[in-house]
Amino acid sequence: MTTTSLPGAPHFHYQGDELFAERVRVGDLARRHGTPLFVYAKASMLAALAAYQRGFAGRDFRICYAMKANSSLALLQVFAQAGCGFDIVSGGELERVLAAGGKPQDIIFSGVGKTRAEMKRALEAGIGCFNVESEAELEVLNGVAVELGQVAPISIRVNPDVDPKTHPYISTGLKGNKFGIAHDRTLHAYRRAAALPGLRVEGIDCHIGSQITDEGPYLDAMERILDLVQAIEGAGIPLHHIDFGGGLGITYKGDAPPAADALWRKLFERIDARGFGQRRFMIEPGRSLVGNAAICVTEVLYLKPGEHKNFCVVDAAMNDLPRPAMYQAFHAIEPVAKRSGNSSPYDVVGPVCESGDWIGRDRELAAQPGDFLAVMSAGAYCMSMASNYNTRGRAAEVLVDGDRAFVIRERETPADLMRVEKLLPGA
Ligand SMILES: *Cc1c(COP(=O)(O)O)cnc(C)c1O
Repeated sequence: MTTTSLPGAPHFHYQGDELFAERVRVGDLARRHGTPLFVYAKASMLAALAAYQRGFAGRDFRICYAMKANSSLALLQVFAQAGCGFDIVSGGELERVLAAGGKPQDIIFSGVGKTRAEMKRALEAGIGCFNVESEAELEVLNGVAVELGQVAPISIRVNPDVDPKTHPYISTGLKGNKFGIAHDRTLHAYRRAAALPGLRVEGIDCHIGSQITDEGPYLDAMERILDLVQAIEGAGIPLHHIDFGGGLGITYKGDAPPAADALWRKLFERIDARGFGQRRFMIEPGRSLVGNAAICVTEVLYLKPGEHKNFCVVDAAMNDLPRPAMYQAFHAIEPVAKRSGNSSPYDVVGPVCESGDWIGRDRELAAQPGDFLAVMSAGAYCMSMASNYNTRGRAAEVLVDGDRAFVIRERETPADLMRVEKLLPGA
């Protein structure tokens, strides 16, 4: 039987006409667990992580998985067991890391709007570093730490003002973005941080955007960060680590981002040339660790041929796969079992009552009602952004490891969705 692999997703492949996740037949999972169903390939997660680890071989480094890309507990557990730390952006994410067995000292806390309660909980848990995003936040964090009799380890997130050339909603390192402290205020902010009794300066941080497919913005941002390190240390404030954020893109369709190891070899050429090679380097990859490690399997409900367009109505929707509606994003859509016969172009849409509820446009499909389709590259920013819109329970999730498959999330029931609601006192 011939084996065909899929672009960017090496652990999903066809054997003959049937789609497999590692050594498990995807159609069997869909029949057993229902749809929509997210199917993860553990080998893909570990392979993506290994590419970074190769890039950092022989260095002092820490990889902190940016868990907002996908915060399902079993995925966090896989990364924790593989030695990752975590980049969190909320108190809720902190609780997830702790529940999954992650170590508090390997957590860094990013985000422009940390509350006092979140800071307090993170300090009590003993997290590794706060990435502070404004001068006002320095003062608040200092106050919370002093009140607790603690010293908060911090790095300052700098906005290096480089254009990552990606979708505007996921560009974060330009002057007009809400993130980080402006390049020209950085030294001032570090002086202030160094003077505050409740803070201990540990490092410097930046994160310029997401789905970056070109090495240019990374190289530019690195030069600017190293310039700042020189200036800050010149002012007598030593920096123990450089955190370079996340943002590396994945292949959705024709994208050709640099491989993580190749990118970091290039970055280290510059870093070594400038004499910073002995630092601790931290990174916060999200999408590139999980994006191509999952598919979302959905069943074709109806075909609706039309004068101008044909619609293929499936049982997954924008509440499961929000990226097309939010960013006009592209996900490849493949049959779970290929069938012969004529194909036609379809807009693949979900049942949600919004015209924004589409998953793919103008896709050549030979599918029939009852067939399963696989929405590819669904590991990042899908389940973690999923909602209950239209009172749709969130999908079930299965993680495949070789020839074994584990249910890592049950499908939500209507009772789950109503659990925290209350009726008014009745007559
Ligand atoms: C979202 C985010 C990341 C991860 O971005 P990816 O594009 O998923 O790699 C890293 N750091 C911070 C601060 C983020 O907000």
